[in-house]
Amino acid sequence: ARERADFLRLVADNIDAIGDALTERAGAETGLPAARLNGERGRTVNQLRMFASLLEEGSWVDAHIDRADPDRQPLPKPDLRRMSAPIGPVAVFGASNFPLAYSVCGGDTASALAAGNPVVIKAHPAHPGTCELMAGALLQAIEQAGMPAGLFSMVHGHSHEVGMNLVRHPLTCAVGFTGSLQGGRALMDAAAARPVPITVFAEMGSVNPSFILPGAMKERGSSIAEGFVGSLTLGAGQFCTNPGLVFGVAGEAFDRFAAEAGRQIEATESATMLHAGICSAYAEGVEKIEATQGVSVIARSPEGGKTQGRGVLFRTDAETFAQTPALQEEVFGPASLLVACEDVAAMQRLAIGLNGNLTASLHATAEDLDESGPLVELLSNVAGRLVFNGYPTGVDVAPSMIHGGPYPATSDARVTSVGATAIQRFVRPICYQNAPQSILPEELRDINIKGIWRLVDNERTKEDC
Ligand code: NAP
Repeated sequence: ARERADFLRLVADNIDAIGDALTERAGAETGLPAARLNGERGRTVNQLRMFASLLEEGSWVDAHIDRADPDRQPLPKPDLRRMSAPIGPVAVFGASNFPLAYSVCGGDTASALAAGNPVVIKAHPAHPGTCELMAGALLQAIEQAGMPAGLFSMVHGHSHEVGMNLVRHPLTCAVGFTGSLQGGRALMDAAAARPVPITVFAEMGSVNPSFILPGAMKERGSSIAEGFVGSLTLGAGQFCTNPGLVFGVAGEAFDRFAAEAGRQIEATESATMLHAGICSAYAEGVEKIEATQGVSVIARSPEGGKTQGRGVLFRTDAETFAQTPALQEEVFGPASLLVACEDVAAMQRLAIGLNGNLTASLHATAEDLDESGPLVELLSNVAGRLVFNGYPTGVDVAPSMIHGGPYPATSDARVTSVGATAIQRFVRPICYQNAPQSILPEELRDINIKGIWRLVDNERTKEDC
């Protein structure tokens, strides 16, 4: 574990050492501004160092010890000890919108390596040069740390077949994927159809519903409109946490909110999108919503160049929304749909019918919350993270973070792809029954050599046993 920790720190140092060349290359390939990329680099290296600290502390292996009791009746109790072990080679797919933090050395790779697994990366076709630079940092660290060369490999390719072959390869034991629902679902189906099925931890798209309750709408509708449009248009709307749906109670305050959000959209310049495919998919998604009966356009950003995504705000009513499942599909870019509901009860009914999401946001006064009935509980059924009086973009890397949620936001709502517990996706528990001390991993021996937290006979302790 200590060697792995040193290795992860070397990877982080090597990424820092690439300097401006990384920002320039990633900027040229993605159109993302330097400040954003430098921030993302900080997040990427911090993530690697966070996993290094986790390994050094050691308790993440979740060691359990249940000592033997030969006198137990009617049957003697065996000595049972369990902990997490690496799952095996992991194939990792990154997304185009995070060329550093969800790519070659991103969270999936960092957590899979930290757990002790080799990683094979499918380089993203939208930023191949950035992938090469990041892979170079990792390969250099392998050499510096004297790690086995097979710990990391990367394959490029424009065809989906390249990725499919990685998933189908008999030695692949798990997959970490960040990207579209279509891509994630294709890989999940391929993984399930293997002679030996494996798990794909797919982090996919999300529409991140926001609910604005009447008191909050009346009290601060205009500042919510400003914050909402800021969140919607950040990075040309190319975030999986982008707020694509807003629910409120129809009336004067809702109309004022819609008008203010419209003004904000009109005042926001269109921005360059990540690649031609994302740009045309966005234009098609916007056209599809626009062509839906019962949906109208409130406002648009000024027209930009042909590589730019233009912000759009739509409006519809609760009935149209309930009857049009396509309105829940992610349109990846700065588009959002406002849904005017008859009352809070109608908002609750729509909350029940929502698909799985990464986040759900609630703008509410204390009084609103008292009168909102089961709304918070309903939203907790459909989202991995509930945001109160805030906006969903901005995912803090912290132990309590859940960046996940029910399908189709992810393939497995029990885990997170951000934060230290992301490591749990790439391990499996092993139990040793009546094993001699010499066979046991250090973490499970009577003497707690590593001084880690363990659950010994149901008691959390760092003591020897
Ligand atoms: P993408 O088109 O799905 O690509 C992701 C990766 O999957 C690429 O390497 C791609 O390479 C591969 N791929 C795509 N379709 C495939 C298929 N049918 N079979 C095999 N491989 C396939 O996604 P993206 O456009 O890069 O990223 C944007 C999406 O990611 C958005 O939907 C966004 O919401 C989501 N996202 C989610 C999170 C999260 O944490 N939940 C974070 C960031 C982004 P090839 O095309 O070369 O095969």
